Amino acid sequence: MSEISLNDQIIESLKDQKEIFGDELFVTLDLNTREEKIVYEKETLNLLPKKNEEKYVPNLFQEDFQKAKSLNELNKLIAGCQKCSLGATRTNFVFGTGNPNAEVLLIGEAPGAEEDKQGEPFVGRAGKLLNDILIAIKFQREEVYIANILKCRPPNNRNPLPEEMTTCMPYLIKQIELIKPKVILCLGLVAAKGLLNLNTSLTKMRGNVYEFEGIKTMVTYHPAALLRNPNWKKGCWEDVQKFRKLYDELAG
Ligand code: SF4
Repeated sequence: MSEISLNDQIIESLKDQKEIFGDELFVTLDLNTREEKIVYEKETLNLLPKKNEEKYVPNLFQEDFQKAKSLNELNKLIAGCQKCSLGATRTNFVFGTGNPNAEVLLIGEAPGAEEDKQGEPFVGRAGKLLNDILIAIKFQREEVYIANILKCRPPNNRNPLPEEMTTCMPYLIKQIELIKPKVILCLGLVAAKGLLNLNTSLTKMRGNVYEFEGIKTMVTYHPAALLRNPNWKKGCWEDVQKFRKLYDELAG
């Protein structure tokens, strides 16, 4: 079995905390090295704003992609996007996948290494776990639609920066407008915050039914977080059962 370095253990632990609590970090600090440790943790999670990064303010009414009449058309219009710095470092633009008329939309955070390589969201281990979760609540991957808040991979799987999310979000909103799902499930805190604009913890969001543009929306863990912390699988199972029930009620 390969040994996990201390550095990797710290990163995984901080990612788990961020998944639940968001930007607040709960850490025990040695007061003699307090400043250095805080900087290290923030850099590890990429919470520090980048200096001189240009802020893109979308003008929704002047963007060609707003005229797209189908997902295919939208994909062609935005696939070459370079509106934020992630356009330069991606291998593949990851638009989304699934049934264009899906009643169920799943939204994740951003492509990871494997997604970036294959150009499809939720492949690899997290994708397999997501497929298993879907099957457990009697959905097939092909009948739902799966997309991310960001279409391009943040380097080293760091968390998306607020300005990247603001820049990319109009594409997801257009996807939602075209798909017209009955229900949305946000996978992880980043997706939930990005879509619902709520400043609270995942723990407080789970189990609630929110609305995005009139579409019922629920929140659960990101499958990658479940791989890091299998103790959360039970909670996820409770969440997705409630989500299935909600769908059944709405679908009649
Ligand atoms: S992340 Fe979104 S906004 Fe940034 S380059 Fe990719 S598609 Fe464009």
